[in-house]
Amino acid sequence: MRPFTWLAPDTTAEAVALLREHAPGARVIAGGQSLLLAMKDRTAGPSHLVSLGGIADLAGLTSAEDGSLVVGAATTYAVLARTALPGWHEVLADVAGDLADRPVRNRGTIGGALCTADPRYDLPAFAVGVGATLRVSRAGGDRTLPAEEFVRGAGETALGPDEILTAVVLPPLPTWDVVVFEKFRHRVFDAAIVSVTCALRQGAGSPAAARVTIGGATGAPVTAPGAARLLAGAPSGEKAGNGATSVGDGIGDAAAEEVLPGGGPDETSRYQYELIRTLVSRAAARALTDPGSA
Ligand SMILES: Cc1cc2nc3c(=O)[nH]c(=O)nc-3n(C[C@H](O)[C@H](O)[C@H](O)COP(=O)(O)OP(=O)(O)OC[C@H]3O[C@@H](n4cnc5c(N)ncnc54)[C@H](O)[C@@H]3O)c2cc1C
Repeated sequence: MRPFTWLAPDTTAEAVALLREHAPGARVIAGGQSLLLAMKDRTAGPSHLVSLGGIADLAGLTSAEDGSLVVGAATTYAVLARTALPGWHEVLADVAGDLADRPVRNRGTIGGALCTADPRYDLPAFAVGVGATLRVSRAGGDRTLPAEEFVRGAGETALGPDEILTAVVLPPLPTWDVVVFEKFRHRVFDAAIVSVTCALRQGAGSPAAARVTIGGATGAPVTAPGAARLLAGAPSGEKAGNGATSVGDGIGDAAAEEVLPGGGPDETSRYQYELIRTLVSRAAARALTDPGSA
């Protein structure tokens, strides 16, 4: 590991100023679970590390006036996993509690996962899957952008060199009746080969809406609008009954074709194609039979 200077600001504004002052060598560090590995193998060699650990505003969860859930970017997986959340927001805790291993969950943060933008990571896929928005701070003022615009590709985000991700904002509970997250990995501590998020709002009183998002198979999480249309139009709750599985199969087939048309160019992508079919089918059937979607 190359030598570096550790900087510990108390506020986001101070952190942004330090990034600017020590550009281009300064990097933000949150839990260090990705960055320290990169520094150890020398694929990253920052001159200055700007720690988010002392910025109280960046850790923890709050509710906005409109019912959105505001998750500070430096909130660890462990804190998310042990926080009781209402309705479908609870899925965030489930996702955070079922990845990597305990040491990584104790240190790793939701913001770090989004900024690393590894296609296999769960939180970027989940954030895109539920239509989260991200808050970013910079010297000229703050900005917000949808998660799907933030994650641009493998290891690539919309973040500028002197910008800090400050929060991940989940939309209010009425946005969806039910959210289902499914993933496939070989071992329990492995990153996902494919993950799927199905979000569904039924039509009573408001238009039906659905979102089907696939992570892991492409550089950035990708939505499958054709599969989502099928999901939004499918019978739900008790009406779906045993038929939910065959309806789910059709939605799974549609999603796989949208993401990797024809099964893709090689064996890996054909494997992922089958995983998308299976996981979307299962997630859609679960969404359609969840009591919340009745
Ligand atoms: C053994 C192991 C297994 C893992 N398995 C999984 C898994 O199964 N699923 C999964 O989803 N993930 C997995 N991970 C990845 C883990 O989720 C990430 O390493 C972690 O979330 C990164 O967060 P961090 O806070 O440690 O980020 P850091 O390592 O501190 O930072 C990562 C990058 O993000 C930047 N950054 C961090 N926070 C901000 C911010 N707020 N604003 C701007 N830039 C920022 C840093 O500059 C750096 O470039 C695994 C990691 C390990 C080591």
